[in-house]
Formats: sequence, structure tokens, C-alpha cells
Amino acid sequence: MFIPMITGTTQLLGVIGHPIHHSLSPVMHNAAIAHLQADYVYLPLPVKPDDLEPAIAGFAAIGLQGFNVTIPHKQAVMPLLSDVSELAQAVGAVNTVIKTEQGWMGTNTDVEGFVAPLRSHLATSPQQSAVILGNGGSARAVVAGCAQLGFAQVQVVGRNPEKLQAFLASWQHSPLSVNLSVHPWEQLPRLLPQASLLVNTTPIGMHPHGEDSPLSETDLTALPPGAIAYDLIYIPSPTRFLQLAERQGAIAINGLEMLVQQGAAALRLWLRQEVPVEVMRSALVDYLSQRN
Ligand code: NAP
Repeated sequence: MFIPMITGTTQLLGVIGHPIHHSLSPVMHNAAIAHLQADYVYLPLPVKPDDLEPAIAGFAAIGLQGFNVTIPHKQAVMPLLSDVSELAQAVGAVNTVIKTEQGWMGTNTDVEGFVAPLRSHLATSPQQSAVILGNGGSARAVVAGCAQLGFAQVQVVGRNPEKLQAFLASWQHSPLSVNLSVHPWEQLPRLLPQASLLVNTTPIGMHPHGEDSPLSETDLTALPPGAIAYDLIYIPSPTRFLQLAERQGAIAINGLEMLVQQGAAALRLWLRQEVPVEVMRSALVDYLSQRN
């Protein structure tokens, strides 16, 4: 592993979360920093929920240049920032914070991360229907991404009626133009035949439960050939869901690309320059192949 030279002038970046030891972000960010020979280092910063406010004040005191935010702080950090972008407000979560002259500015690069691998597949025609499995935190970035991509309908499928209604209500005054509807899981046979994009935002199929899939092979026969199946999970890669969808003629996209692209978007904001996405992707692939 290449260790960048840390000196007295090295600027600090990092990621806050609790726990944080599982984060892959230091691997890809430090690989890009080393490639660019930038005088930065990116650190895992464990912050317990009760310590969030003093931690943010401390980051300002020591001159941190910016940080990523992961579970459980993506919502809780918002009132502690001087400014939150319209996109992050619409999503209801901040994953990237930038130091500005006015103070901390929060934004959300998960949306850009989600959208980036879809652009080449969806470039040609207006999109009709996206079906999203799950209504948790990452589903919010996916809805915002589908709105950016111009889907005529975004259909969110969940297992808990109260959470589904709360999810729907939270988008009613959104600055993003999105035609959103929510549905119980049983409605999928009716929804899938119209879907050009099917996204799994549930953890079903995530390591160590790699044999699981949110939908069976039979369920997936309803998906039109050529539709895109997108799984936010990146371990295992591909997931069982993607394997089954591919067997039905779907184009498969796994969650690693979203992870890479949201990180690249954040690093661009901090360094104010283009970043080596390929280096970030390879660093993650190499790291994961050594670890598994
Ligand atoms: P979350 O906020 O906990 O949401 C998970 C959603 O899945 C909830 O709506 C939950 O339903 C639903 N769900 C969980 N188990 C289910 C089951 N057995 N049957 C039906 N629905 C189920 O989690 P998240 O932060 O959105 O993360 C979800 C997944 O996305 C994780 O695997 C995470 O690793 C991945 N992710 C990847 C990226 C990336 O960059 N690739 C980024 C973010 C997240 P209830 O609300 O009813 O509990």
C-alpha cells in the first residue's frame, strides 16, 4: 500500500460515522490523493452520536478542509452546518461537507453517484417508469436521481405502510419535480412490466447473505428485456438479484460504481480539480479482492 507523505503542511479530510472501521472511503480517497500528489490525507473519524456537535466544532478549530458523513449522522449533521444545498435539503441528508469562508456547507453527492453509471444507458429516450425497492435513507438519493434523469413515474415499493406514507409525504413540497407513488410489495407484478429501471435499495442479498435476493427469478420474468437492474449493494458483486435479472435480459449495474462516483464528486468539491476516477475504482476493487 502506498502511504502519502504527511508533513506539517498536509491538509486534512475525512469521514465521520459510528462505527467507521468498515468504511471504504479512506482507501479510494487516499489512492486518488497519492495519484494527484496532492498535499492532503483522508482519515476515518469515529464520532459517536452524542459527540457530533463538539466534533464539528473541533473540526473547524483544527482546520479540516472537508469531510464525508455516513450512518448515523447524515440527517443529524444538517442543523450544525452554515449552509445546506437545495439538493441535500430535498434528499433530507448530507453526505459531503465543505469548508467555506462562511462556515461548513453540506451537500449530497450520493445523487450524482447514483446517476453517473446510468447516464450512458439512458441517454437516448425519455424514461417512463422507475421502480425502487425499499424506502430507507439511500432510496431518497435514488428518488432524487430519478427526478434528475426525468423519469415520468417513480414508484417506491416498501413493506411498512406507515413508513411508505411518511416517505411520500416528505416529497410533497420538494423543489425537485418528481411524480412519486408508493406501493406495497404485492403490487410488483403490476409495476414491473412498465419499468425501464429497477433499483434495489434494501440490504437483501448483502454479504454475508449473498444467496438472498429481494425478487425471485420468477418475479423478474415480468421485467421487460433491456431494462436496467441496479443494486446499491457492492458486496458481493454481482449480487444474486443482479445475476437473476441479467438472466432475464436486464442490464446490471452494481453499487460499487455509485460508491466510487459519490466519492469522486466529493473529492472534486474539496480539491476543486478533476480527480482520477479510474484510480479510485481500482483501489477499491483491489482492496476488496484482497479482503475477500
Ligand atoms: P436503510 O435506511 O436501513 O433502508 C433500508 C430499506 O430496506 C428500508 O426501507 C427497509 O424497510 C428495507 N428493508 C430492509 N430489509 C428488508 C426486507 N427483508 N424486506 C423488505 N424490505 C426490507 O438502509 P440504506 O442506508 O438505505 O442502505 C440500504 C442498502 O444500500 C445497504 O445495502 C447499503 O449498503 C446500500 N448503500 C449503498 C450505497 C452505495 O454507494 N453503493 C450507498 C448507500 C447505501 P423498513 O423501512 O420497512 O425497515
